[in-house]
Formats: sequence, C-alpha cells, structure tokens
Amino acid sequence: MAIVKADAYGHGIGPVVAALADRVAWFGVANAREALATRAEAFSADILILSPVTPEEMPAVVAHGFAASVSTPGEVSAFGAVARSQGRVTSLHAVADTGMGRMGALPELFPTLVQMIQATEGVELGGVETHFPSADEDEAFTMGQIAVFADLMGTLKLPDTCQCHLGNSAGLLGFHPRTPFATLVRPGLALYGISPLAKSQESLQTVLSWKSKVALIRDLPAGATVSYGRTYVTPRPMRVATLGVGYGDGYARQLSGSGAEVLIGGRRCPLLGRVTMDQMVVDVSHLARVQAGDEVVLLGSQEGETITAGELAEQAGTISWEILTGITSRVERIYLE
Ligand SMILES: *Cc1c(COP(=O)(O)O)cnc(C)c1O
Repeated sequence: MAIVKADAYGHGIGPVVAALADRVAWFGVANAREALATRAEAFSADILILSPVTPEEMPAVVAHGFAASVSTPGEVSAFGAVARSQGRVTSLHAVADTGMGRMGALPELFPTLVQMIQATEGVELGGVETHFPSADEDEAFTMGQIAVFADLMGTLKLPDTCQCHLGNSAGLLGFHPRTPFATLVRPGLALYGISPLAKSQESLQTVLSWKSKVALIRDLPAGATVSYGRTYVTPRPMRVATLGVGYGDGYARQLSGSGAEVLIGGRRCPLLGRVTMDQMVVDVSHLARVQAGDEVVLLGSQEGETITAGELAEQAGTISWEILTGITSRVERIYLE
C-alpha cells in the first residue's frame, strides 16, 4: 500500500499515483478528497482512507467505494446506514489501538468492533490494522505491539479476504520479518527514498530534489546587516547571493540562524540572517565563480555534495516528513522519467 497522503508527501499526488498505479495493489490517503485524486490516476486500485472519516465525507466515501479505517461502533453503524441508503456495501478496516493512541479500539474492545462490522448490513470487514508510534526508536515497545496484534489475529477467525497491515516505513524496514501475518505494508517516507532509520538509508534512493536559482549577487562591506530583524552582521566584506525562495515556498523560517546551508557550484553556502517569505541571502564569498541564474540546491545533490531532508529537519527542529510536506504549491514540480 503506497501512502500518498499530503500530496504524496509534497511530491504531487497525481504524478506519483500515475507512476505507481501498475506497481502497487493499494493506495493509502488521509481523506475523501485525496482518495478522489488517487482514483483519477489509478482507476482500478484499492484505496484506503487512513484517518477517521467525518460524517460529511461518509456519503462520498461509500459512493466511490473507498475503504475506510474505523475505531468505534458508532462509525460502523453510521457507515452501515449510509451504505444501506445507497444500496452499497462499504469495506471497513478495523483499527486496533496497540499504543498509537489516536485511532482504533483498545485490544480488549477490538474483537467486539470486528464482530460488529461482520454483523452490520451494508459494511464488510476488508481489513484489520494497527500503527506504530515509535518503530524508529523503541524496539521493545514495537515488539510488544506486534505480540498484542498477533494475539488478536490468533483469537479472531478472520476471513481469507481480510487484509492485515501494521508497517509504516520504520515498521517495514525494522520489523517486517517479524510480522509474517501481514498481507500489506504501508510505507510513506521510505517510498520517497528517505529512511526513518539511519541504517537503512543506503538501500534507498531519494526521489526529490528541491532547487532554486541565484537571483542576485551583491557585495557588502563589513558591518552591514542582513534581512529582517538585522540578526546577521557581516564580520568582513562579503559577497552574498539573494535567492528567490523563502518560507512562502516551504523553506522553514526556523532555519534562520540554524547553520542551514544550500549548494551552489557543489559548495556549501551558509544562510545569512532570517528566511523571508520570498527571498533569502546566502554567503558566496568562497566561490570563485557565481552569477545570477546559477542552480541552487536546497535539498538533494550537486557535484557530489548532498543536503538531506534529515539535515534540514534537524536544523529546523522538525522531522523529514514535515520538510517534504511543507514544500508549498508555489514550487513548480518537474517530473523526470
Ligand atoms: C502516514 C501513515 C503511514 C506512513 O508512515 P511513514 O512513517 O511515512 O511510512 C502508515 N500508516 C498510517 C496509518 C499512516 O497514517
């Protein structure tokens, strides 16, 4: 199951789904709107909505035949009523809360949830699922979750058609051999070539590069101040490049003063002062040649040097997922085969 929520982690849901349509059985999304965008590019794929479906979305989810993740008897009966009113049957995946704590039935209530789905007209049991909150940092807890879920699978007599899934990227990369009962895995981040576990990064290839261009080159004397708040004062005469990218493009404003760098001509160039909405300034004093129009790499590789989402995330005090999903629609996406 390819996870393509949040505009395919910022990569663009349409082209990503089109590229994967023949290679995956399922797509996972967060809501009905994303499910429709997925359906438009992968007409015959199964699509699961991973987040709770709101009452407002329910009629469309039923009408389009998307599968939905449910946690409570209330959701099951609401789906049943909507499905019967449309003369359809909706596939529900029962979520077990084994420690994530945001969706699902607690283990002791899970069998009742499953039985209710099986007994309610208008819905059918399409799958059972759970989710790992810390598969990238707590092996013992994750193994405990797997044991609880395996126990539930053992006691419940599930039909052969029922899918069973529990691995996000960290679960897939770190625990997959220990979940032989799973019929699907749900990688998001890893699908885009970024590992949540440092040890698995070399087996993946990053999909996305984020580039800008040098817009302007200027020479500043010592003692000049740069950008809003005048947080940076040039310690010596400097050559600086102004780039046409800023927080309005998703380059996190928290990267201001963080030691963040960009690549120009294969060299690292430090960000100076604050990131503004549309522009930011970097030090290019150490470059022999630089001119307006030169390629700037914000994320990705250039002449053997690389800036990873993990590096930017650490500097911005966030995670790789937010760096990717934060790239706004102002940034043109270009797809290379
Ligand atoms: C987002 C999500 C995933 C994918 O997580 P990654 O860490 O990006 O692999 C898997 N399952 C569920 C339920 C999710 O919400």
